[in-house]
Amino acid sequence: MSTLPESNRFDGHQHELNQAKSEVPFSCDGCKELGFGSCYQCPVTNCSYIVHKECHNPPLTLSSHQFFEGCNFQFHKEYPTGPGTRICDVCVSDIHGFSYQCSRGKHDLHPRCANLPPAFSLPDSDKAIYLCDEIKSRCLKCQSKRRSSGKVHGLSYVSSEGKLCYHVACLNEALVENWRNGLLTPDANANGESSRSLELQSLAPNQVARPQSSRAMRKLKWLIKFLKLVISALLGDHFTLFSTLFHFFQN
Ligand SMILES: [Zn+2]
Ligand SMILES: [Zn+2]
Ligand SMILES: [Zn+2]
Ligand SMILES: [Zn+2]
Ligand SMILES: [Zn+2]
Repeated sequence: MSTLPESNRFDGHQHELNQAKSEVPFSCDGCKELGFGSCYQCPVTNCSYIVHKECHNPPLTLSSHQFFEGCNFQFHKEYPTGPGTRICDVCVSDIHGFSYQCSRGKHDLHPRCANLPPAFSLPDSDKAIYLCDEIKSRCLKCQSKRRSSGKVHGLSYVSSEGKLCYHVACLNEALVENWRNGLLTPDANANGESSRSLELQSLAPNQVARPQSSRAMRKLKWLIKFLKLVISALLGDHFTLFSTLFHFFQN
């Protein structure tokens, strides 16, 4: 294990970090936001330094972002006007640590929020999921179309037919809530059918967990696929914690 001289590391942390996957939520030492899944962690005993994948050696500039056209983004280790004075334009929560600020001083992004996948296409389907700034249906979690704080409205994931929508802010909250309720578990066999429908209810209240018709069953399958994909977008690839939900229809 090598130790870099402090001056070589932009964040002042002196140990080299290992790529890891956190099965419990962590507070990122870079952006100070909650994280799950893909991360970089310090292997040194008694050093608990841990950051999002996107907060590990972040690029110092981002030249473009589809929702903020004409803005160049600059990385800040600390926000120039102090913590908590700006709100992320993607997840609508306060900025307390690492962030990108646009050249016009209008937009701010958490590193992880700046790097959310803009779209997924599904190989065996004509459907897709997009990151959007406006939604036409209500969010599956909060049941409303708008999720804003002052002038900041945040982004959402939306299915191509426009019916399934999830605010990024609500997705963050739903993950924490599921973890608190013990529904997130790395062991697929630990939970039975009852916890699966609980998990679904908590992620998407008002959706029918036990469909009566085959049309409703197709709708539910698509809903679960949608949830699985947007959650993996947030948590990183090959995430397995939501295994109970994901194995819902495997047999
Ligand atoms: Zn972070
Ligand atoms: Zn360390
Ligand atoms: Zn801007
Ligand atoms: Zn954010
Ligand atoms: Zn919402």
